[in-house]
Amino acid sequence: MQMIPLADGYGRVARDLRVSLTDRCNLRCTYCMPAEGLTWLPREEQLSDDEVVRLVAVATERLGVTEVRFTGGEPLVRPGFVDIVARVRRAAPEVELSVTTNGIGLARVASALVDAGLNRVNVSLDTVRQDTFVELTRRDRLDDVVAGLAAASAAGLGPVKVNAVLMRGVNDDQAPELLAWCLERGYSLRFIEQMPLDAQHGWAREEMVVAEEILAALEERFDLTPAHEPRGSAPAELFLVDGGPATVGVIASVTRPFCGDCDRVRLTADGQVRTCLFAREESDLRSALRAGADDEELASRWVTAMRGKAAGHGIDDPSFLQPTRPMSAIGG
Ligand code: SAM
Ligand code: SF4
Repeated sequence: MQMIPLADGYGRVARDLRVSLTDRCNLRCTYCMPAEGLTWLPREEQLSDDEVVRLVAVATERLGVTEVRFTGGEPLVRPGFVDIVARVRRAAPEVELSVTTNGIGLARVASALVDAGLNRVNVSLDTVRQDTFVELTRRDRLDDVVAGLAAASAAGLGPVKVNAVLMRGVNDDQAPELLAWCLERGYSLRFIEQMPLDAQHGWAREEMVVAEEILAALEERFDLTPAHEPRGSAPAELFLVDGGPATVGVIASVTRPFCGDCDRVRLTADGQVRTCLFAREESDLRSALRAGADDEELASRWVTAMRGKAAGHGIDDPSFLQPTRPMSAIGG
């Protein structure tokens, strides 16, 4: 079988596939979703388990994808998630398989996910204070997330990574506290700058907490030195904490974009290829698949979609327009 790389017009090749399994979620993080009123994808538009497994297999067998990360919405709320992981693992024995989750319900399935062939987890946790957690996520579920993290670590889904977003006036004073908490438990923490991807379009450049501020706050309590690993296509800038070996990362998507090294491509829960979180266009693989396209044709459509990938997201350009679909529908 011929392998065709997912190359774009700027010399980049995508090898890291993010697959959204659902746009639904059991939290309502303020930077992601409104409190209520979001309409979900109709069930019939969502890819079935068979369709997800087939498209991922096309990507790994024919298009050179070497890493697959499941996301959403909240991937753990998708019925049959563990089985999807197991089937993808069988179809792609060599691929690196991971999931980004809010951690709710992870305690229950962590061991089963290891048995199914999952390699790693990223758990999103923005605060270890219960009142702040409720304010940020609009749900009282901190204990579930903490239990999920512990179970993931115990099951061997490590190194467990924690993703955190800081919101001004809510948890922007808690960065050192969160880092200390993660260090104690051996979790690897990365702060992500808030991006304009919320469904309610509430993002404001002047409001967001930028990487420079986050690092300054951490340096009040910790000694940070750049970890001398080449950053490559990894979006996080890593720092050794107090001489290492523990590290902390900052993903400065807005103020220090890494688009030039991007190696990602996304598949939405309804089977659309997106070349970037901020892309304004999608390519419909679901319709082709349901119309009877064979794997070769699906691969060829995917390759064509990739050629249209833009050079960068342009968030800082005055002409920037937020994508119509929110992060929860695209797959973060
Ligand atoms: N529900 C899962 C979770 O929260 O980990 C997976 C999907 S979520 C959209 C993926 C990641 O995107 C999470 O780490 C979340 O914190 C982050 N995220 C969501 N909205 C964001 C925004 N507006 N800016 C930056 N990161 C965001
Ligand atoms: Fe749900 Fe993740 Fe969005 Fe929070 S960030 S609302 S957990 S999809």
